[in-house]
Amino acid sequence: MQTITMKFGGTSVGSPEAISNVVNIVGEAVAQGNRVIVVVSAMSGVTDQLIGSVREAAAGNRWGYLSCSQKLRDRHHEVVNLLTVPGKNRGDVLNDIEILLSQHTELCNAINILGEATPRISDSIVAFGERLSSRIVAAVMRHARINARAFDAGQFLVTDDRFGSATPNWEETERRIQNALVPLLDQGIVPVLTGFIGATPDGQITTLGRGGSDYSGAIFAAYSNSDELIIWTDVDGVMTTDPRIDRRARVLPNISYTEVGELAFYGAKVLHPKTVQPILNKGIPMRVRNTFNPKHPGTLISEVAEPTHTVIKAVTAVRNVSLVTVQGKGMIGVPGIAGRTFLATARAGANILMISQASSEQNFCFVVMNERVEQAKASIEEELAKEIARQDVDGIDVMQKVSVVTVVGAGMRGTPGVAGRVFTTLGNNDVNVIAIAQGASECSISFVVDETNIERTVLSLHDLALEAVPVH
Ligand code: ASP
Ligand code: MG
Repeated sequence: MQTITMKFGGTSVGSPEAISNVVNIVGEAVAQGNRVIVVVSAMSGVTDQLIGSVREAAAGNRWGYLSCSQKLRDRHHEVVNLLTVPGKNRGDVLNDIEILLSQHTELCNAINILGEATPRISDSIVAFGERLSSRIVAAVMRHARINARAFDAGQFLVTDDRFGSATPNWEETERRIQNALVPLLDQGIVPVLTGFIGATPDGQITTLGRGGSDYSGAIFAAYSNSDELIIWTDVDGVMTTDPRIDRRARVLPNISYTEVGELAFYGAKVLHPKTVQPILNKGIPMRVRNTFNPKHPGTLISEVAEPTHTVIKAVTAVRNVSLVTVQGKGMIGVPGIAGRTFLATARAGANILMISQASSEQNFCFVVMNERVEQAKASIEEELAKEIARQDVDGIDVMQKVSVVTVVGAGMRGTPGVAGRVFTTLGNNDVNVIAIAQGASECSISFVVDETNIERTVLSLHDLALEAVPVH
């Protein structure tokens, strides 16, 4: 008997058809004698709608949030009406939906009166998506004779009070999962938990950040000591590159935790970047699989990095980024300038994607998302005002319209010539490389190219990745 945690994403619970697939998948696993923990996202698009309703409420648009509530009611009712029969089970879940939606309206009314939304009240509102979906999925499962019960994850997943991107309290979360969730499995119950949300110790609802349900899935898998975590989504697995850039993209049969972590960090929308963190130490294998094609084995993510002869397994690209360069002769041998620059960048709310410094120490550069670059520049200029006045630092340059391309493959460690091969390929394709960085994990190489070169760059490097992947 195995314990399997299954997380279903927004499209996997986004329609009556999708939910029927979910019920079949879980039903089959239960019939085979497994203990199953289910973690669900909100129905696709619902989190965005809820965020919209917070905005409408703050702007005083009562009609806007009321109509959001009505749309949510219709969409969730449709599932219940199509997939269950009249009776107590249906009545109970329709009642639950009503209670949640009336709370939604009340909270929006409060924002409307105050004219602004605090992060705390926003979190309570966006959490309704998962609270609704978990209840309807559990009800449809019960209709299919699965002993399912919906739970708000905040009962188990305890976090700090950084609303909007809360951090789990590991000890308390582990304790509650062991003491309160695992016994449910022992009783033959299939818990259907809300992804994405947690709660502070005193019960205030928090969220883990957009796309956080994957992370929730990993947390529940880790602390229930699951034998496997399956992330059910709407693609067959982790791909060699974004199929929108190259249609030849293929599903990788396997990839390591470290490799998939790099991919997620560099924008491949497969997994929330923090997902591997909780399961890494426990070595719990994770699979990415397709709810709409459950026969496909998907991608196995584990400790093992299977070597491939081309070394490079996948290529990703991040658009809409800017390269910030700090330069000046007075920086040579002066400690602290880089540190202060990065702190100033962090204060501006800008996340750094890659960093590069040549050993001449006369400049260093790093990449941030476009939307934060102006704030970052201003914040650095303020921090280094003295150095700039003394001309130790010449100034802060920003180069826009660039992209970061990353090639990933754990075999780079200890395989000489991979970087050579990458840059020769780029040279042969007339791509000018603006900056380069390789992490100490030696599992990826990232570089900055002009935005206009992005297709050419990805296609030519993807050729190297494709050579190593079998065609399904
Ligand atoms: N529903 C949340 C979001 O859209 C969390 C998730 O789906 O992972 O961001
Ligand atoms: Mg997601």
